Amino acid sequence: MKIVKRKSVLWKFWFLLWPGADPNHTLIAFGDHVFIPGDSIREDLVIHEAVHLEQQRHSYIFAVFWYIWYTLSPKFRLEKELEAYGEQIIFILDGANRKGRKSIKENNTINKMIEEVSVLMSGGMYGNVGSKEEIVLKLKKYIEENDRNFNKLS
Ligand SMILES: [Zn+2]
Repeated sequence: MKIVKRKSVLWKFWFLLWPGADPNHTLIAFGDHVFIPGDSIREDLVIHEAVHLEQQRHSYIFAVFWYIWYTLSPKFRLEKELEAYGEQIIFILDGANRKGRKSIKENNTINKMIEEVSVLMSGGMYGNVGSKEEIVLKLKKYIEENDRNFNKLS
């Protein structure tokens, strides 16, 4: 994985397809590169994009087909983003675990995070892949199934 601190040359093409996306704040995963506009690299966002690289099998040829599918199929898009956001949240939970995940659970930060991601995913940025309520349930299910240290969400 190579992290490149600039906008991808693909972004013009990308924003033609996704006019709602913000080029100054959108990370793009392509093949084996993660393009990050601006300087700040949030580790959990890199984890999210690393999942997309994995989905693209770290191959530029695969990445082209991935993006075509991603654009055409809401079902594919939902599936790939659930995995990426799921892993992103699990990564944040792992960090929280070191500081005591219990307290995080108690103050409901996890559920708030799931809510926020679900609002984002059900909005125009992802081409309305499903309702917020539906995505909340699917995200919780993903996290419950994939986080080894998980204690059931309330
Ligand atoms: Zn994503």
